[in-house]
Amino acid sequence: MIKINENYLKLQASYLFSDIAKRVSAFQKEHPETKVIKLGIGDVTRGLPPACVKAFHKAVDEMAEDTSFRGYGPEQGYDFLRSAIAENDFRARDAEIADDEIFVSDGAKCDTANIQELFDTDITVAIPDPVYPVYLDTNVMAGRTGAYADGRFEGIVYLEATRDNGFVPRLPQQKVDLIYLCFPNNPTGSTISRDELKTWVDYARHNKALILFDAAYEAFIGDAALPKSIFEVEGAREVAIEFRSFSKSAGFTGTRCAYTVVPKECRAFDARGNSHNLHSLWNRRHCTKFNGVSYPVQRAAEAVYSDEGKVQTAELISYYLENAELICTEIEKLGYSYDGGRNSPYIWVDGQRDSWSFFDMLLEKAGVVCTPGAGFGTCGEGYIRISAFNSYENVAEAMSRIARQLK
Ligand code: PLP
Repeated sequence: MIKINENYLKLQASYLFSDIAKRVSAFQKEHPETKVIKLGIGDVTRGLPPACVKAFHKAVDEMAEDTSFRGYGPEQGYDFLRSAIAENDFRARDAEIADDEIFVSDGAKCDTANIQELFDTDITVAIPDPVYPVYLDTNVMAGRTGAYADGRFEGIVYLEATRDNGFVPRLPQQKVDLIYLCFPNNPTGSTISRDELKTWVDYARHNKALILFDAAYEAFIGDAALPKSIFEVEGAREVAIEFRSFSKSAGFTGTRCAYTVVPKECRAFDARGNSHNLHSLWNRRHCTKFNGVSYPVQRAAEAVYSDEGKVQTAELISYYLENAELICTEIEKLGYSYDGGRNSPYIWVDGQRDSWSFFDMLLEKAGVVCTPGAGFGTCGEGYIRISAFNSYENVAEAMSRIARQLK
């Protein structure tokens, strides 16, 4: 008899985006004249930078000729891209990362989901609340949790991000082995200072733990005092793995390219306490289960680091950040408190009522769609996430409708 992995039965169906879609379509049926503006989903809306498109086309043409055609490439990514990443994203910021510590992939979603395979089922896992749901669900699938009750899985140490701690979780009271951190944060938009990040690195070193640092939104950091990478913090090479993506930095959500950084000193332990190198384990996993990102996509990603690519991606990011600033200004005028929106495309608004009623109010009164914070975890209740990913015109229209209706 074929049996299932019963851990899958513990997963909570994610109704968040389907519930949103249902409410939006019901509203639209009743008000066909209203143009609904969506500031809910975290997907980018602007076209790829021209430098990336040019490199993409050129690489496709190369694939058409026998002489320049490429078949399977290196699973970890082509040297030209690994080296451009390590040089520009790390060494240029004094974070010592070697080219072969970069593993190119088709998404930070898959990487943050897959990495947990390297670790024992028995470890204690610390996960933020609210959270990008992938970290939690993949640990549930792997059997690292008990049952689900009252919004929480038994066995997980939840790292609460609340107004009291400025949406940067405090170190856990107990010993944990695996820690997920995400900054700039999805959904709260909060950032972490170098000193705060150092306390996590020190904790991990002291407890022989490992930090999985999701920096998918690092491109939005404009404040020079904030770290873009955990590897800008001393001592992190032994205790951290970092995830990055071209999705938000260069509009690659539909093109797919990301990477994971695993320093060679990074280690985990066997049952006898012997240390093992995670770089080799991840390399083994990656080469066994993944066959590389397509050549044209890697050439398009490489173009992000060209002179014109740098200018064009910076322009993309500032476009969304201007939207974010407008959202913050209008929300502030209405007297709501919020976090994020600076160094981040997300604005986390305290709705002063339950998340779904705030969502309904914005939809019904202003025809604007946001994301109810409760969908990201227990600590998200009472909040909504507004995303800056839309055209400036739509954001301006959405905010003036909100201002008119909520005053
Ligand atoms: N990590 C975080 C925190 C995200 O919000 C997202 C996407 O929204 C991802 C990772 C996924 O990135 P990718 O498109 O590279 O899979």
